[in-house]
Amino acid sequence: MAVDRVGNKPCGGRYGDIVESIGNTPLIELPRLSPKPGVRIWAKLESRNPTGSVKDRVARALIEDAEEKGAIMPGQTILEPTSGNTGISLAMICRRRGYPLKVVMPENVTAERTQLLRMYGAEIVYSEGSLGSNGAVEKALEMAEADSSYYMPYQYGNVANPNAHYNGTAIEILEELDEVSAFVAAEPMQGEPVQGLRSLDDGFIPPIIDLSILDRKIFVTNRDAIIWTRKLLEEESVFAGVSSGAIARVAVRIAGELDEGNVVFIVADDGWKYLSSGIYTLSVDEIENLDATVWW
Ligand SMILES: *Cc1c(COP(=O)(O)O)cnc(C)c1O
Repeated sequence: MAVDRVGNKPCGGRYGDIVESIGNTPLIELPRLSPKPGVRIWAKLESRNPTGSVKDRVARALIEDAEEKGAIMPGQTILEPTSGNTGISLAMICRRRGYPLKVVMPENVTAERTQLLRMYGAEIVYSEGSLGSNGAVEKALEMAEADSSYYMPYQYGNVANPNAHYNGTAIEILEELDEVSAFVAAEPMQGEPVQGLRSLDDGFIPPIIDLSILDRKIFVTNRDAIIWTRKLLEEESVFAGVSSGAIARVAVRIAGELDEGNVVFIVADDGWKYLSSGIYTLSVDEIENLDATVWW
């Protein structure tokens, strides 16, 4: 009977290859973060995907969409701007499916990202660090313009990206919860770079964002993002990336405004890729004084 149990449970099952095993991530309650008994906070642990981030879903959707349209053939080079996670996910899938991958990434990202991308066989083109990931987007667009042999999935403008969540992540959440009172994401304050998040006021609004479906926006500082990343670890033993700390902070605030119900957010990645940035060891004073212009 053990076999049946595994076969039917999230995160279990049997798959033809690593790409097929993407998704079916666990939904974890965070009882110690909840401000009142009737309000339950849930984290969808997307860090439990094959490369450790939610971007595995997006990368698979982008590649399969291109394959279905006949836009790519094995051997063709895929080009994509990224600050890391999407690139790592694409690299895993492209290696498996036989596409060389070139990623454009800001030169000042953490060393772990460069290492992981190289391990999965991607070629890295660095963009100017001070321009952050918007600089990587611009550079990749220029390269694609100049050389038509590249196929650029373009995560920021490709509807296959949100559809991966609409048809995957969202359905998995709704299979576990009868109702969701609030689904929470977060936006960093402008000029306050939070690794993994992006301010829409920094001059680039991805074409796939539909702002009309947001009920409201709550901004988060980098300091709060780091403090809450550590709270997730210290109070709930969830080792998460910095964007998850930012979102957890907002989720707890929203939970405090409700009388009952379920508040859900996504843990987009785990903490491994952020270790070298020191966020788990900085003192509160050091966090206060972090140089906000450094984009890790
Ligand atoms: C996925 C994502 C990006 C881009 O991801 P990379 O891993 O940097 O390629 C940027 N901003 C947000 C909010 C995202 O979710």
